[in-house]
Amino acid sequence: MNKALIVIDYTYDFIASDGALTCGEAGQKIEMNIVNQIKKFAHEGQYIVIANDIHNEKDIYHPENKLFPPHNLKDSKGRELYGKVKNEIDSLVLNSANNIYFLDKTRYSAFAATDLTLRLRERKINEVYLVGVCTDICVLHTAMDAYNNSFDIVIPKDCVASFNQIGHDWALAHFQNTLAAKVI
Ligand code: ZN
Repeated sequence: MNKALIVIDYTYDFIASDGALTCGEAGQKIEMNIVNQIKKFAHEGQYIVIANDIHNEKDIYHPENKLFPPHNLKDSKGRELYGKVKNEIDSLVLNSANNIYFLDKTRYSAFAATDLTLRLRERKINEVYLVGVCTDICVLHTAMDAYNNSFDIVIPKDCVASFNQIGHDWALAHFQNTLAAKVI
């Protein structure tokens, strides 16, 4: 079965201790687990999508500007992948892996106003593995759109994290009970 790994917002701003909107330790703890998923998908030649927020601080119409401090700004260090996840993806790109796609998203969901659905359908992918942060925000909204678009969803629970532990726990239950995801 064709499947895709979607790595959501594992960037400096969301993970580093001095990131602009950081999950801190909770996010740092899942670093190697995500690296291992990337290695597995790369080894199998499966599709890997790096879905990162992109924001413009001066966009007064963007709803997140009222909710959160500026983060993942275009061309900033905050938008780069974090730590060993960055190293792993950099080395795959250096070895000209052609199954890695960098997707800019402007909303929580990686599907919102992007070409993600088309890219998955083109490749006959019907199962998506979601990893990254935050479990109860961008991972959740991506999972909801995956569900609405009839993709099967797998959430490796040691590969998602949030700055909100209650939200994290709630979302894990929601994935399984309401979005029919496999939480593994
Ligand atoms: Zn954002």
